This record gives sequence, structure tokens and C-alpha cells, in this order.
Amino acid sequence: MNNPIDISIEKAIELIKKCKNIYIVSHVQPDGDNIGSTLALAMAIKKLKGNINVLKVDNIPSDYEFLPSIELIKNHNLDKPIELLITLDSSDLERIGKGRKFAEKAKYIINIDHHITNDNFGDINIVSPKAAATGEIIYQFIEKMGIDIDKDIATCLYTAISTDTGSFMYSNTTYKTHLIVSELLKLGIDTDYININLYQSRSIARTKLFINSLSSLETFLEGKIGIVAITQEMLKTNGAKMEDTEGIISFIRGIKSIEVACLLKELDEKEIKVSLRSKKQIDVSKICNKFNGGGHVRAAGCTIYENISKAKNIIVEEILLHFR
Ligand code: 5GP
Ligand code: MN
Repeated sequence: MNNPIDISIEKAIELIKKCKNIYIVSHVQPDGDNIGSTLALAMAIKKLKGNINVLKVDNIPSDYEFLPSIELIKNHNLDKPIELLITLDSSDLERIGKGRKFAEKAKYIINIDHHITNDNFGDINIVSPKAAATGEIIYQFIEKMGIDIDKDIATCLYTAISTDTGSFMYSNTTYKTHLIVSELLKLGIDTDYININLYQSRSIARTKLFINSLSSLETFLEGKIGIVAITQEMLKTNGAKMEDTEGIISFIRGIKSIEVACLLKELDEKEIKVSLRSKKQIDVSKICNKFNGGGHVRAAGCTIYENISKAKNIIVEEILLHFR
């Protein structure tokens, strides 16, 4: 009971009870854990206080449109006072994009996350790298708030945990993950509906991009490193969006010889988003840290401000160094 995380959770709940204008902020290029955790906590705080503001900082991928209360995530302007801002699944303030302006204005910040690279930027930091997903921490948080976890909240938490664990397959999955999920299942959530929405609703455009991108796979170091680059041109050709790159990187990691999978996304001519995944040896969070990014041992990201071919050379060189 006396562990530092529990104490921080209690302090955070006290602060939530005390504060009036509360904002939860999602992160740029939001994923299932970020969106699921955000909605679950938003619904819980709404039950407690009657209202909540959820700040949208980037487009929500269509995969998550089925989630209950998704309409809560919307644009806000800076004209109201901000007493408390809560960030979820964001290891530094850079990750919340335009939310930084809201963070500057906020009287207090609560930072809830599971990234090992989190820099503890909050007034209260609830950072638990052993949690497979931020959704696991939010489950405990809502329980401690004394708020009933209903089917809608459970649906969002299940989405958060399922997406961040690769459907309970990645090495971050623990017995606690399964215990939490078993509690969610007891609440009668419709896993069939959730899983079809998350994993069996791929569009034709996304499928075409997938085929097109994998045919450009390059490998290095006897097939231990695999890299795919997605350009704006490829998106145009296939009628796809950047969010349609979901799934490509895990497919690359699924190749037998691969230890490090890399996906490059051309956001702009000189702004390349790098995603890295590893299988069992290389700590990719260390590689991304070199470029001011971060993440987990087996999944991390960063941005390289060069054109896509230069960015590819730079990241391959850096990955190679970590095999020595
Ligand atoms: P993805 O490759 O799916 O974008 O991200 C993999 C993991 O790394 C996620 O946990 C994500 O939050 C983290 N991550 C991705 N990009 C960045 C970044 O630029 N900075 C930091 N700190 N973390 C990142
Ligand atoms: Mn996460």
C-alpha cells in the first residue's frame, strides 16, 4: 500500500477532487492505449465531477471511432482557466504537441505513463514502466477513485491494453495484465465487437499500402534489420493515410531473421517519423533517445529532420552501432 505509485495515485485523486477546470490531453499520432486510457479516465472523472475537457491534439485514426464517448475528444481554445491538466501515455511534453500551450497555462500537471523514458515533467508523476499499457494504470486509478467501472469504461480499457500488448502477445504482458483483463471481461464487454473493429476492419486502401510498402522492404546485417519507408507519394498512389501504416512494422518484426524492424514515415519533406521494434536483444528506446525520442525496450519512436533517404542512412547507422 505504501509504494510510491500508490501514494502518487492518492495525491492525484485528491487534486482531481479539488480542482474545477480539468483537462485531459491526448498525444500526437494517438494510438489505442492513449485514446482508450484518455476516454476511460474522462468518463470516470465525468461521473465524479459532472464534467471534463478532453483536448484533441491530432487526428483520431478511424480504427478508434467505435469507442464510447469518442466525441469527448475535441478542439479547445485557451480562453478558459486551466486548473489541472492530465497527460496520459506521453513520456515528455513534446508528445502532446499543441497541448504544450495548455500545459504552460495549467496550474498543476498530472503525468500518467508507462514509458521507461518518461522525464517526470508533472507536478505529480505516476510512471510505471512495468505496466504493459497506460490503460493498466488507469484501471487501478479508477478503482482507487471509487468510481464504478462500467461497460463503456471497460471497453476503452480493454482497447488500451489489447493494442499496446499486441493482443496480449508482447513481452510486456504480465499476469497482472491478464488479471485486469479478466475483471474487464466479467463486466460483459463485447470482445467480438471490439476485436472486429480493431483488427478486422482494414480498408482496401490500407491493404494496398501494406502490399506496396512490403515490396520495398530492405534488409541489413544478414536480415537482422528490416526497414520500410512510407512516402507521401505512396499514400497518394494507394489512396491511404499515414494512420494506414498500422500493422506494417509488426509484420516486419514477424520475419524470422529480424531483430530490429524499422518503419520510416515521411510526414513532411524533412520530417521523418521513425518507428522501431525489436524481438529479444536490442533496446530500441536507447536508439530513439539519441534523436530525442523515446518509448519502450521493444517499441520506440523518434523524429529525424532530414529527407527520407538521409534519415534512412542515419537510422541504419545508429541501429548497426547497437549490434556491436
Ligand atoms: P510508434 O512507433 O508506434 O509510434 O511508437 C512506439 C512507442 O514509442 C510508443 O510507446 C510511443 O509512445 C513511443 N514513441 C513514439 N514516438 C516517440 C517520440 O517521438 N518521443 C517519445 N518520447 N516517445 C515516442
Ligand atoms: Mn502506451
